[in-house]
Amino acid sequence: MGRTFRIKVRMRRFRRSHPRIAFAIRSSMIFSATFGAAYGFITGSRAENSGYDPNAFAIGASFLFALACLGLATLSMRLRFVNKRMRKLAVHNEALIDRNWELKEAEERARSLFESQGDLIVLRDHQSRITFANDAYCALAGEVRTALVGTRFDFDVLEQGDSARESNGTRIHDQKIATHLGARWIAWREGYVRLDAGQPAELQSVGRDVTDRTETERALSDARDQADAASRAKSRFLAMASHEIRTPLNGIMGMSGLLLDTTLTPEQTTYARAVKTSGEALMALIEELLDYSKIEAGKLDFELRPFALSTLIEEITELLAPRAQAKNLEIAAYVDERLPLEVMGDAARLRQVLLNLAGNAIKFTASGGVALIVEPGIWPNEISFLVRDTGIGIAPEAQSRIFREFEQADERVARTYGGTGLGLAISERIVKRMGGRITLESEPGRGSTFEVAIPLAPSQGGAGQTTFPSPELAGKSILLIADGIEASLIARRLERWGGQTCMISDAAVAEALLPERSWHAVLIDRALGTAVADRLGEVARTHATQRLVLLTPSSRHEKLCPAFTGYLVKPLRAASLAARLALTPEVISPDLAPEPVEPAEAGAAPAKGLSILVAEDNEINALLMRSLLTKLGHRVVIAVHGEAALESWLAASSAGASYDLVLMDIQMPQLDGIEASKRIRAHEARTGGRRTPILALTANTLVEDRYACFEAGMDGFLIKPLDREKLDEALAGLAAARHLVL
Ligand code: ADP
Repeated sequence: MGRTFRIKVRMRRFRRSHPRIAFAIRSSMIFSATFGAAYGFITGSRAENSGYDPNAFAIGASFLFALACLGLATLSMRLRFVNKRMRKLAVHNEALIDRNWELKEAEERARSLFESQGDLIVLRDHQSRITFANDAYCALAGEVRTALVGTRFDFDVLEQGDSARESNGTRIHDQKIATHLGARWIAWREGYVRLDAGQPAELQSVGRDVTDRTETERALSDARDQADAASRAKSRFLAMASHEIRTPLNGIMGMSGLLLDTTLTPEQTTYARAVKTSGEALMALIEELLDYSKIEAGKLDFELRPFALSTLIEEITELLAPRAQAKNLEIAAYVDERLPLEVMGDAARLRQVLLNLAGNAIKFTASGGVALIVEPGIWPNEISFLVRDTGIGIAPEAQSRIFREFEQADERVARTYGGTGLGLAISERIVKRMGGRITLESEPGRGSTFEVAIPLAPSQGGAGQTTFPSPELAGKSILLIADGIEASLIARRLERWGGQTCMISDAAVAEALLPERSWHAVLIDRALGTAVADRLGEVARTHATQRLVLLTPSSRHEKLCPAFTGYLVKPLRAASLAARLALTPEVISPDLAPEPVEPAEAGAAPAKGLSILVAEDNEINALLMRSLLTKLGHRVVIAVHGEAALESWLAASSAGASYDLVLMDIQMPQLDGIEASKRIRAHEARTGGRRTPILALTANTLVEDRYACFEAGMDGFLIKPLDREKLDEALAGLAAARHLVL
């Protein structure tokens, strides 16, 4: 079968390749067959002994005819079959033509896409001859495609950038090349592509013109270098200038200190103190600027020395206690017992950060208090310092901003409290340099907690030591009659020492509780009231071995009720509390006379001249105004904010002794000068009373501010800093015209 098929195929092939020979063979075969048949028939029928029988002839002829018909029918069927196959082939052929056309179109599209690419595309064979270059490449080469294909053309390389290789073998590199359009930076991606099986792979290079980007980057980097240099120069200048300013400032402060040691009149003492206070404020500002510039210039060095944690924290608390207590705020500290006694680090820098945070906490808190809590951090050797206050809080949108230099949470608030906005920026930089972080949690109106977490390893020498022996309080009951932040920290400490602590803020409840059991110690806070504390002390006599009273530093010299066995001064040192609780009770009653009351300030000026109300929140400025006006022979009343000024003005008006003039500072806490003036004018309009001239006191010379003053009903303004002449002139004008527009 296979053999037959092969022969057939060969014959077909032969017919196709030699049609003439095939035709000749076919013709001769037909001729021989026809001739043979005719000759045989005629010869056979004419022979005498042929035995011709017409019937047999008819049978033979019809048999042959039937055979011929069968042959024709077979041929017709084959023809139909062949036609069917032909039609199928024609359809298939058409589909192939369509497909071929689509492929050609796609190839055309791909080629035009390649050619019109903005990126440079070039293909090279294994001998570096160009086999394809797109329009962009030709344009940059300044040649037509036909001139490039087949050549080894390449651009001159002016500068070779860094080169890298991707995991798939693609090489990436930048080159600065010379083109007829000038030097261009091209970022190349090069890789091998196999176009046809059996052919060597071609190198495909795709290049993007990054001249603009590279030049912008270079310009930016130059600009950054310049800015860095300028910033360093600025920091150096700031450092130098601050240093130079500090020297004479030291002289001013030292001299005013010396002056204060000499015999001075009360007036002179006040002035000398003002000089000293202003000097100190300026010094603090310069210190901050100096620190900041040092940090900026990278010149802040950090020490690594052992220091005692609790000593540092207690010192900070005690240093800030007078400031807190002057505002009737509590300040307390708690150092967790799990922490090492001594750690390695820069105590001075840490103190600076904590003083700033705790100082801010006091500054921005009007009631409640401030707590400094030191606990183990979340990482090994990390210590977390929490500075918590119950102050004004910080709005969420200001929380990250305040860590930037010269940023304050709220400008209005900042004017009330003062400050430069540098403290937190410096603190954050210091903490970062120490390898730590500073975070903030705050809610407006509810207070803030700043957390400083820094790695501080325990010092070798201090490992395992404790500063003071903890008192043996296990199983002993202690009653703490107090309220507030410090009380809760004391309770926490007593519990750590094993004491069964009961903290009560209500005196009546405490009094009822005292006889309930025998107490090892009763701690009574005199902040509840001296009489209340003394009474509780008396009641506790029979129920408690130790009866301790908690005092503030200012009240420590006052006489103590003999019922108390001892006293502790707030903010409490853990060591003092431990020592006091471990002591055998003995009555300690400091018998010191109360501090002499400071002599009253120098008397008022003679009852001539004008009666002037000065609304000024800055103490030094108020003092200056008072002195200048008094020297000019006027009578002065100072109000420390707009609210107080309004009250004073209303009181004077209703008493029939209206002021002749109001000097009104514009920026004041609670009620500013503009609002206070508006209210004064509104009151005058309602009552039809005499119009009091109001002059604004401002350091701002902007035109908008002048308009705001006039719109509020003020009659003019004086620009700060004021001198005697300016003031004299303004007041002389007032006396003459009683109408002031300066
Ligand atoms: P300064 O206090 O000198 O203005 P800081 O950098 O120390 O500068 O503080 C920046 C600002 O952050 C402050 O002006 C204040 O608005 C806000 N701030 C800082 N600490 C507190 C706090 N404890 N409570 C409320 N606001 C605070």
